[in-house]
Amino acid sequence: MSLKKVEPQAIVIATGNAGKVQEIRAIFGDSAVSFFTLKDINFDGEIAETADTFRGNAKIKAEAVAEFVFSRYKNYWVLADDSGLEVDALDGRPGIYSARYAGENATNIDRYTKLLSEMQGQTNRSARFVCVLCLICPALQANMPPETLFFEGECRGSILTEPRGNGGFGYDPVFLPNGYSQGFGEMNEVQKNTLSHRGRAIKALLEIFSKH
Ligand code: IMP
Repeated sequence: MSLKKVEPQAIVIATGNAGKVQEIRAIFGDSAVSFFTLKDINFDGEIAETADTFRGNAKIKAEAVAEFVFSRYKNYWVLADDSGLEVDALDGRPGIYSARYAGENATNIDRYTKLLSEMQGQTNRSARFVCVLCLICPALQANMPPETLFFEGECRGSILTEPRGNGGFGYDPVFLPNGYSQGFGEMNEVQKNTLSHRGRAIKALLEIFSKH
Protein backbone atom coordinates (compact mmCIF):
# COMPACT_ATOMS: atom_id res chain seq x y z
CA MET A 1 0.00 0.00 0.00
CA SER A 2 1.28 3.49 -0.71
CA LEU A 3 0.90 5.69 2.30
CA LYS A 4 2.96 8.33 0.53
CA LYS A 5 -0.03 9.82 -1.20
CA VAL A 6 -2.28 10.01 1.79
CA GLU A 7 -1.91 10.41 5.49
CA PRO A 8 -4.83 10.26 7.84
CA GLN A 9 -6.36 13.47 8.98
CA ALA A 10 -7.49 11.63 12.06
CA ILE A 11 -7.65 8.13 13.50
CA VAL A 12 -10.73 6.89 15.32
CA ILE A 13 -9.77 4.44 18.08
CA ALA A 14 -12.46 1.77 17.94
CA THR A 15 -12.68 0.92 21.62
CA GLY A 16 -14.63 1.97 24.67
CA ASN A 17 -11.73 0.94 26.94
CA ALA A 18 -10.23 4.12 28.43
CA GLY A 19 -6.99 2.31 29.36
CA LYS A 20 -6.34 1.31 25.76
CA VAL A 21 -7.16 4.81 24.45
CA GLN A 22 -4.76 6.40 26.93
CA GLU A 23 -1.92 4.04 25.98
CA ILE A 24 -2.48 4.27 22.21
CA ARG A 25 -2.46 8.09 22.37
CA ALA A 26 0.69 8.09 24.51
CA ILE A 27 2.58 5.64 22.30
CA PHE A 28 1.80 7.61 19.13
CA GLY A 29 3.19 10.63 21.00
CA ASP A 30 3.45 13.96 19.23
CA SER A 31 2.41 12.83 15.75
CA ALA A 32 0.51 15.20 13.50
CA VAL A 33 -2.51 12.90 13.58
CA SER A 34 -5.52 13.68 15.76
CA PHE A 35 -7.20 10.88 17.62
CA PHE A 36 -10.89 10.49 18.31
CA THR A 37 -12.70 8.03 20.52
CA LEU A 38 -16.05 6.39 19.79
CA LYS A 39 -17.63 8.86 22.19
CA ASP A 40 -16.13 11.80 20.28
CA ILE A 41 -17.82 10.68 17.07
CA ASN A 42 -21.09 9.68 18.79
CA PHE A 43 -20.77 6.01 17.91
CA ASP A 44 -22.91 4.06 20.34
CA GLY A 45 -23.39 0.80 18.44
CA GLU A 46 -22.97 -2.56 20.18
CA ILE A 47 -20.27 -4.72 18.57
CA ALA A 48 -20.45 -8.47 19.24
CA GLU A 49 -16.97 -10.01 19.37
CA THR A 50 -17.97 -13.31 17.79
CA ALA A 51 -14.64 -14.44 16.32
CA ASP A 52 -12.43 -17.02 18.04
CA THR A 53 -9.13 -15.17 17.50
CA PHE A 54 -7.74 -11.77 18.51
CA ARG A 55 -7.26 -10.98 14.84
CA GLY A 56 -10.85 -11.89 13.98
CA ASN A 57 -12.26 -9.76 16.78
CA ALA A 58 -10.00 -6.80 15.95
CA LYS A 59 -11.30 -6.97 12.35
CA ILE A 60 -14.95 -7.15 13.47
CA LYS A 61 -14.52 -4.04 15.64
CA ALA A 62 -12.58 -2.08 13.03
CA GLU A 63 -15.04 -2.90 10.22
CA ALA A 64 -18.11 -1.99 12.28
CA VAL A 65 -16.64 1.39 13.17
CA ALA A 66 -15.22 1.98 9.68
CA GLU A 67 -18.66 1.58 8.14
CA PHE A 68 -19.92 4.35 10.42
CA VAL A 69 -16.85 6.59 10.02
CA PHE A 70 -16.31 6.36 6.25
CA SER A 71 -19.88 7.40 5.50
CA ARG A 72 -19.50 10.55 7.62
CA TYR A 73 -15.86 11.71 7.57
CA LYS A 74 -13.33 12.09 4.78
CA ASN A 75 -9.82 10.73 5.30
CA TYR A 76 -10.43 9.43 8.80
CA TRP A 77 -8.84 6.05 9.53
CA VAL A 78 -9.99 3.46 12.06
CA LEU A 79 -7.83 1.53 14.50
CA ALA A 80 -9.15 -1.36 16.61
CA ASP A 81 -7.26 -3.22 19.35
CA ASP A 82 -8.13 -6.73 20.45
CA SER A 83 -5.97 -7.95 23.26
CA GLY A 84 -5.84 -10.26 26.23
CA LEU A 85 -3.88 -12.41 28.59
CA GLU A 86 -3.01 -16.04 27.79
CA VAL A 87 -1.98 -18.14 30.79
CA ASP A 88 -0.11 -21.38 30.04
CA ALA A 89 -1.37 -23.34 33.06
CA LEU A 90 -4.95 -22.45 32.07
CA ASP A 91 -4.48 -23.65 28.48
CA GLY A 92 -4.40 -20.07 27.21
CA ARG A 93 -7.38 -18.77 29.16
CA PRO A 94 -8.71 -16.12 29.59
CA GLY A 95 -7.34 -15.27 26.11
CA ILE A 96 -9.92 -13.68 23.85
CA TYR A 97 -12.34 -13.77 26.79
CA SER A 98 -10.10 -11.59 29.02
CA ALA A 99 -12.64 -8.77 29.20
CA ARG A 100 -15.54 -11.20 29.88
CA TYR A 101 -13.67 -13.65 32.14
CA ALA A 102 -15.58 -12.79 35.34
CA GLY A 103 -18.94 -11.92 33.74
CA GLU A 104 -20.31 -8.90 31.92
CA ASN A 105 -20.40 -6.38 34.76
CA ALA A 106 -17.22 -7.43 36.54
CA THR A 107 -14.51 -4.95 37.49
CA ASN A 108 -10.78 -5.25 36.81
CA ILE A 109 -10.35 -6.33 40.45
CA ASP A 110 -12.99 -9.08 40.01
CA ARG A 111 -11.16 -10.35 36.93
CA TYR A 112 -7.67 -10.52 38.38
CA THR A 113 -8.97 -11.88 41.70
CA LYS A 114 -10.64 -14.73 39.80
CA LEU A 115 -7.39 -15.33 37.93
CA LEU A 116 -5.34 -15.41 41.14
CA SER A 117 -7.74 -17.90 42.68
CA GLU A 118 -7.60 -20.17 39.60
CA MET A 119 -3.81 -19.96 39.78
CA GLN A 120 -3.57 -20.76 43.48
CA GLY A 121 -0.93 -23.45 44.05
CA GLN A 122 0.17 -23.40 40.39
CA THR A 123 3.93 -23.55 39.95
CA ASN A 124 3.87 -22.85 36.20
CA ARG A 125 2.88 -19.16 36.18
CA SER A 126 4.01 -18.34 32.61
CA ALA A 127 1.72 -16.10 30.61
CA ARG A 128 1.73 -13.63 27.78
CA PHE A 129 -0.19 -10.54 26.84
CA VAL A 130 -1.20 -10.36 23.18
CA CYS A 131 -2.37 -7.36 21.16
CA VAL A 132 -3.64 -7.39 17.58
CA LEU A 133 -4.33 -4.05 15.95
CA CYS A 134 -6.50 -3.72 12.86
CA LEU A 135 -6.08 -0.49 10.89
CA ILE A 136 -8.56 0.34 8.14
CA CYS A 137 -7.79 3.19 5.76
CA PRO A 138 -10.38 4.49 3.31
CA ALA A 139 -9.95 3.65 -0.38
CA LEU A 140 -7.00 5.51 -1.83
CA GLN A 141 -8.63 5.60 -5.28
CA ALA A 142 -12.22 5.55 -6.50
CA ASN A 143 -13.67 2.03 -6.86
CA MET A 144 -10.96 0.57 -4.65
CA PRO A 145 -11.80 -1.20 -1.40
CA PRO A 146 -10.53 0.17 1.92
CA GLU A 147 -7.11 -1.12 3.01
CA THR A 148 -7.05 -3.40 6.04
CA LEU A 149 -3.76 -3.97 7.86
CA PHE A 150 -2.89 -5.99 10.98
CA PHE A 151 -0.09 -5.49 13.50
CA GLU A 152 0.71 -7.80 16.41
CA GLY A 153 2.67 -7.55 19.62
CA GLU A 154 3.23 -9.82 22.60
CA CYS A 155 4.82 -9.51 26.01
CA ARG A 156 5.85 -12.65 27.89
CA GLY A 157 5.91 -12.82 31.64
CA SER A 158 4.33 -14.51 34.64
CA ILE A 159 1.34 -14.22 36.94
CA LEU A 160 2.20 -12.83 40.37
CA THR A 161 0.76 -14.49 43.47
CA GLU A 162 -0.79 -11.23 44.66
CA PRO A 163 -1.56 -7.85 43.08
CA ARG A 164 1.24 -5.27 43.04
CA GLY A 165 0.82 -1.57 42.26
CA ASN A 166 -2.20 0.13 40.82
CA GLY A 167 -0.90 1.57 37.58
CA GLY A 168 -2.23 0.65 34.14
CA PHE A 169 -5.52 -1.19 33.81
CA GLY A 170 -7.02 -4.66 33.51
CA TYR A 171 -4.70 -7.47 34.64
CA ASP A 172 -1.65 -5.18 35.01
CA PRO A 173 -1.39 -5.55 38.84
CA VAL A 174 -0.87 -9.33 38.53
CA PHE A 175 1.52 -9.41 35.54
CA LEU A 176 5.33 -9.47 35.85
CA PRO A 177 7.09 -9.10 32.47
CA ASN A 178 10.10 -11.41 31.96
CA GLY A 179 13.39 -9.79 32.92
CA TYR A 180 11.90 -7.08 35.15
CA SER A 181 11.46 -6.83 38.91
CA GLN A 182 8.51 -4.46 38.65
CA GLY A 183 5.09 -5.63 37.50
CA PHE A 184 3.04 -3.72 34.92
CA GLY A 185 0.96 -2.31 37.81
CA GLU A 186 4.10 -0.81 39.38
CA MET A 187 5.48 0.73 36.19
CA ASN A 188 4.74 4.19 34.92
CA GLU A 189 3.06 4.50 31.53
CA VAL A 190 6.29 5.13 29.62
CA GLN A 191 7.98 2.04 31.10
CA LYS A 192 4.99 -0.21 30.39
CA ASN A 193 4.56 1.09 26.83
CA THR A 194 8.22 0.40 26.02
CA LEU A 195 7.81 -3.34 26.48
CA SER A 196 4.10 -4.07 26.38
CA HIS A 197 2.22 -6.06 23.75
CA ARG A 198 0.36 -2.88 22.74
CA GLY A 199 3.55 -0.82 22.60
CA ARG A 200 5.13 -3.42 20.33
CA ALA A 201 2.12 -3.65 18.01
CA ILE A 202 1.98 0.14 17.68
CA LYS A 203 5.71 0.31 16.97
CA ALA A 204 5.15 -2.12 14.09
CA LEU A 205 2.34 0.11 12.83
CA LEU A 206 4.48 3.24 13.09
CA GLU A 207 7.12 1.62 10.90
CA ILE A 208 4.81 1.78 7.89
CA PHE A 209 4.59 5.55 8.35
CA SER A 210 8.31 6.03 8.82
CA LYS A 211 9.08 4.07 5.62
CA HIS A 212 7.39 6.75 3.55
P1 IMP B 1 -10.96 -6.60 24.49
O1 IMP B 1 -9.74 -6.44 23.62
O2 IMP B 1 -11.85 -5.43 24.44
O3 IMP B 1 -11.66 -7.91 24.24
O4 IMP B 1 -10.47 -6.62 26.01
C1 IMP B 1 -9.19 -7.00 26.34
C2 IMP B 1 -9.09 -7.23 27.84
O5 IMP B 1 -7.80 -7.81 28.08
C3 IMP B 1 -9.11 -5.94 28.64
O6 IMP B 1 -10.40 -5.61 29.06
C4 IMP B 1 -8.19 -6.27 29.82
O7 IMP B 1 -8.90 -6.99 30.80
C5 IMP B 1 -7.19 -7.21 29.17
N1 IMP B 1 -6.03 -6.45 28.70
C6 IMP B 1 -5.68 -6.13 27.42
N2 IMP B 1 -4.56 -5.39 27.40
C7 IMP B 1 -4.21 -5.22 28.68
C8 IMP B 1 -3.13 -4.51 29.28
O8 IMP B 1 -2.30 -3.85 28.65
N3 IMP B 1 -3.08 -4.59 30.63
C9 IMP B 1 -3.96 -5.29 31.37
N4 IMP B 1 -5.00 -5.92 30.86
C10 IMP B 1 -5.12 -5.90 29.51
